[in-house]
Amino acid sequence: MITNQLDKDSVKHRVLEIRKKLAYAAAKSNRNVNEISLMAVTKNVSADLVNVAIESGIRLLGENRAQELNSKYDYYERDNVDIHFIGHLQRNKVKTIINKVDMIESVDSEHLACEIGKQALKNNKTMPILLEINIGKQQTKTGFDPDKVLEAAKAIANMPGVKIRGLMTIPPKENVTYYFEKIKDIYIDISQEKIDNVSMDFLSMGMSSDFEKAISFGSNIVRIGSLMFGSRY
Ligand SMILES: *Cc1c(COP(=O)(O)O)cnc(C)c1O
Repeated sequence: MITNQLDKDSVKHRVLEIRKKLAYAAAKSNRNVNEISLMAVTKNVSADLVNVAIESGIRLLGENRAQELNSKYDYYERDNVDIHFIGHLQRNKVKTIINKVDMIESVDSEHLACEIGKQALKNNKTMPILLEINIGKQQTKTGFDPDKVLEAAKAIANMPGVKIRGLMTIPPKENVTYYFEKIKDIYIDISQEKIDNVSMDFLSMGMSSDFEKAISFGSNIVRIGSLMFGSRY
């Protein structure tokens, strides 16, 4: 699939190293490391190598593309492993993944939430979702405008087949601290609204370069790609 992937031993080693850093960051913030999920982001990584991460104890995978998930799904060793969708999701692809994922973290519009609800109901389930926030209001990024997310949360809370469980974000590379703080405030604000059918349990933020900092701002899902599998390109 790609040429510069790491070998199996390196991935095992890296998972251990990441766990150490995670534990240290949690301790520094007086947090219980067991309350923070370490997600392996699998884009462009072979199913074989993803399975090495699973053998090393990873219990959560993050998938960016519906097509890629569908092609690798049967090769994953999926026992006791959850899969979250974290990439931009087109509405017409929802039905192809609805029975493969345990959560969709990248809900960036009411239309998408509505379609997820529809497909979930067809399959007799309720899909847990996170609202993705475009915290830096970047034109190149998807996600709800931070000023409109409360309103959106209230609308989506009424939709059958989906349940809001928290927020997800990818902050701009500059001023990461500022944006982590901002999203934490939004997370607290929405929690305090106590909207029916919304439970703000998850704050998904932090990637290879900034997960330790994200933990200090309350993240409980860190999404790690390159630090675990090597650079993808
Ligand atoms: C690729 C990706 C990540 C992981 O990024 P790294 O910097 O490689 O750790 C996390 N979240 C999303 C949504 C991604 O697309």
